[in-house]
Amino acid sequence: PEDVRVYEFAEACGKSPAEVITVLFGLGMMVTKNDFLKQDELEILGEEFGIEVTVKDALEDANYVDDYEVEEVDDSNFVTRPPVVTIMGHVDHGKTSLLDKIRSSKVAKGEAGGITQHISAYTIEQNNQKITFVDTPGHAAFSAMRARGADVTDIVIIVVAADDGVMPQTEEVISHAKASGCPIIVAVNKMDKETANMDMVKAQMAEKEMTPVDWGGDIEFIGVSAHTGQGIDDLLENILLQAEILELQADPDAKAKATVVESLLEKGRGPVATVIVQNGTLRVGDNIVCDTTYGRVKAITNDMGKPVKELGLSETGNVLGLNDVPVAGSFMVAQNSDKEAREIATTRAEHARAKELSKSTKVSLEEMSGLI
Ligand code: GDP
Ligand code: MG
Repeated sequence: PEDVRVYEFAEACGKSPAEVITVLFGLGMMVTKNDFLKQDELEILGEEFGIEVTVKDALEDANYVDDYEVEEVDDSNFVTRPPVVTIMGHVDHGKTSLLDKIRSSKVAKGEAGGITQHISAYTIEQNNQKITFVDTPGHAAFSAMRARGADVTDIVIIVVAADDGVMPQTEEVISHAKASGCPIIVAVNKMDKETANMDMVKAQMAEKEMTPVDWGGDIEFIGVSAHTGQGIDDLLENILLQAEILELQADPDAKAKATVVESLLEKGRGPVATVIVQNGTLRVGDNIVCDTTYGRVKAITNDMGKPVKELGLSETGNVLGLNDVPVAGSFMVAQNSDKEAREIATTRAEHARAKELSKSTKVSLEEMSGLI
């Protein structure tokens, strides 16, 4: 609790720092906007403002300002949202090839030629139902995203090459996938190869407690080929089945919230953030804050590189207009005004700096006492 400053508390519950200070002053407590609030002060403020205050884990990082936002979940506008699927697997088992094949086989005819380069996230349609795919940006980045609480994944696909079987990274990926708590589907790739051996893969996976459904377990194994395209429809149908069981829902009219899965500084375009919308609808013109960066959405391009006006639930695209490159894994949240967006970003940047500073002060004090 000592981690919440007066201005942060004010921001989280939509009050001005002055209002918070006034309440505490009225009770004989002198605080400034940069002071940390004690547990009893938080309780008093909660009662005074008629809100329930819950403070989550310590703020390790400026991004976690979101953690004590007083969020009201209104599910009256909930609609079904498309699943977000992450593909993981041992290097060279065909993750990228499979993603590219799924995409090229599902885009409208005539557009397939427009797909020239591999992208990190895209949305397809299968039987009029959308599915968003994300390529794992590498295990380190994936873990970093999970640590930030920004895991956008609903379903995990583990790719295992039918000729190679379970490899060291497959084992790693299995533990990642299990830890995520998401339903897992195993795509046994390279089934076009003569040396492909589905039973070998199943046996090896069963040893890792990934028992196939037809062996009495609960994991679906789908044979596929990123080269011939065999099994891909099967895989997609299975994803949709899993999604149905998950009953994924969100509110298309809520304040837009998206997760940054990739970001870069592009010559002539400025900071570009690849996002997946988790709630609400992200529109051109929205004032946004993203960790310590902010701006106004200048343009959005969809996964085909075409300009669009908005991104809906679970959809992905590139967003232009931030003042700086945001970190992958951070949340992009729409704000009511550009002033608000700027203030939140600035506050977070200050907070992050203060944290760093207090860390280094602590360190130097400890070092000093060690010397005395
Ligand atoms: P990643 O490292 O998991 O992303 O694997 P890639 O997609 O880069 O594929 C690694 C290699 O396997 C490439 O040479 C691909 O052409 C090949 N490959 C991928 N999928 C298949 C497949 O279904 N059949 C065959 N025969 N080769 C494949
Ligand atoms: Mg790859």
